[in-house]
Amino acid sequence: MSFATLGLSAALLRAVEDAGYTTPTPIQRKAIPAVLSGKDVMAAAQTGTGKTAGFVLPLLQRLAGGRGVQANHIRALVLVPTRELAEQVAGSVAAYGRHLSLKSGVVYGGVKINPQMMKLRGGVDVLVATPGRLLDLFNQNAVRFTQVETLVLDEADRMLDLGFIADIRKILALLPVRRQNLLFSATFSNDIRTLTEGLLRNPVQIEVSPRNSAAKGVKQWVYEADKARKPALLSYLVRKRGWEQVLVFVRTRNGADSLARTLVSDGILAAVIHGEKTQAERTRVLADFKAGQVRVLVATDIAARGIDISELPQVINFDLPKVAEDYIHRIGRTGRAGSQGEGISLVSADEVQQLAAIETLIGQTLVREVVTGFIPTHSVPLTRQLKIRPKKPKKSKPLAVTGGPRPSAGEKKNTSSKPQRRRKP
Ligand code: AMP
Repeated sequence: MSFATLGLSAALLRAVEDAGYTTPTPIQRKAIPAVLSGKDVMAAAQTGTGKTAGFVLPLLQRLAGGRGVQANHIRALVLVPTRELAEQVAGSVAAYGRHLSLKSGVVYGGVKINPQMMKLRGGVDVLVATPGRLLDLFNQNAVRFTQVETLVLDEADRMLDLGFIADIRKILALLPVRRQNLLFSATFSNDIRTLTEGLLRNPVQIEVSPRNSAAKGVKQWVYEADKARKPALLSYLVRKRGWEQVLVFVRTRNGADSLARTLVSDGILAAVIHGEKTQAERTRVLADFKAGQVRVLVATDIAARGIDISELPQVINFDLPKVAEDYIHRIGRTGRAGSQGEGISLVSADEVQQLAAIETLIGQTLVREVVTGFIPTHSVPLTRQLKIRPKKPKKSKPLAVTGGPRPSAGEKKNTSSKPQRRRKP
């Protein structure tokens, strides 16, 4: 199937060609015609599936056929949870809209508001925004919503996890009643379902299996290690395996800072991206990492949301995430859009519960290895030996996750999952 058969205009087909895409991804195949038809859409898809083009392309096509935008007005609003994702989506809007004469903009907190107010003055067809800054701009009369035709909630689950529900509800109350609504979420918790009930009218429901599409080419395994030896093991692996562009996930900001310091003192070019860094620092670090000037980027989960680096060869879980679904988001950073990748977790004995929860979620027992010189004193118990009654996570209900190798003979799947609330990154 080609993009042309999806009903996209010549200007958008050219932009798709410029981007080097030849075949639409599964979500694009389903979302593009649905959005073009003007219907509401509820899509279960996460980063790495090509979902951004799935909604941006048809959105631009609909806007291109409509009337112009008035001063301080916007015609399409894309709400996203983080600044990084805002930049990334805005980049896609600009790239896919390059042969159209639509105006686009992006607003988020942590940077000066004045340039954003100036930008909005002339009106913007597509505005990508984080909820808090959008409300600030609205309260200062910098943006008006009466021309809004389409609302997109991107990574809705993450917006709720980050506590944006009150802001989202305020924004929804300000929008015209007649509009198209598109909602994208990796998971569908009860909170998301409650939100969608009041928001979407007879939505076209789209589901693509995240692991089938996002992580098909990702080889995943575990290195068992003592907690205290993990930094040395990581240094060793980076050198020994010749990893040149590695994204490393750490649970806490302090942990991320401390790991980056250790790597730098070992002579490895490493940098950190987390919630306490200024936007300018984050942008610079990301650019350096993309350009190959930083070898190891150490990131917390939320800061890493929205990082789009195609064909990132390795993603390392230095700590296992507390929320099992984050594992899927993390390894979604490698093997994107069909390329090969490796998702490697350094696991210590105290993380066995998290490991079991992840294995249950992905329906696969991860292969374990040890590295000579780093054989753990406290080995990680086998997850099948855990006698834990499965608890239902309170918030994030995973979507059906399929694919991946089956557990090997003799191995059983384990279930362990604490009710999980998001912490600050
Ligand atoms: P997304 O899931 O929207 O974050 O997109 C993930 C990555 O896939 C981005 O780097 C896109 O540029 C890329 N991508 C999106 N659609 C396609 C496609 N049809 N073919 C190849 N790459 C794509």
